[in-house]
Amino acid sequence: MKVVRIRIEGDEIAYGVAEADGIALYRGTPFVAWEPTETVIPFEEAHLLSPVFPTKVVCVGRNYVEHAEELGNEVPDEPVIFIKPSTSVIGPGAPIVLPSDSSEVHHEAELAVVVGKVSHRVAAEDAAAHIFGYTAGNDVTARDLQRKDGQWARAKGFDSFCPLGPAIETELDPAGLRVSCEVNGELRQEGSTYDMVFGVAEIFAFVTRVMTLLPGDVILTGTPSGVGPIRPGDRVEVTIERIGTLANPVVAGS
Ligand code: ZN
Repeated sequence: MKVVRIRIEGDEIAYGVAEADGIALYRGTPFVAWEPTETVIPFEEAHLLSPVFPTKVVCVGRNYVEHAEELGNEVPDEPVIFIKPSTSVIGPGAPIVLPSDSSEVHHEAELAVVVGKVSHRVAAEDAAAHIFGYTAGNDVTARDLQRKDGQWARAKGFDSFCPLGPAIETELDPAGLRVSCEVNGELRQEGSTYDMVFGVAEIFAFVTRVMTLLPGDVILTGTPSGVGPIRPGDRVEVTIERIGTLANPVVAGS
């Protein structure tokens, strides 16, 4: 099933499931009091939002060998994790706003894991039972500020620097999925989740030893090689096999 979150009339927000003839609306959230309604919204009338609104986005750095090498970094012996604030999350079609503080903002196409249950110290073999599904993510990064600061809260944390979507696929084996990024239709990144240094279950166990993950929280699992700059007027598309394409325009900010 493909779960989406949409804005309906006015400011009302609802979750739904993409079906053949449109989006079947649900009551509640996929995590609490989830119930189908009779309403189906045609696709062309649905304004898609990020498919989930996490309390935090936990990211894994340097999780593909060729990407670690392209930035001159060693491949780590355990996952390197950092956090993007919930306020950096945007949905499909919303603009990535380039702050004037940076002159080098990069795209990073990533498989995103959506947490389904309160998860604390979950063993790798139990991870799948705690995962709700998978979506596409773009770990937008101000590369110049990342190099300058040494730690990454600023470079990774600007508003709009975490596009997620378009839908959460709940029946998916995360192994061997193609992960790619196109900018203005030109292929920039292409990899397979087979090439991740640490797999999803191992990452899940590692992160939940440190912090409790809550339903709707997101883990970004690292990016393949080919990261590069985005500029005002660009259109960035992250595609994950069997999930879909997350497209966002890029605009200049202040
Ligand atoms: Zn990343």
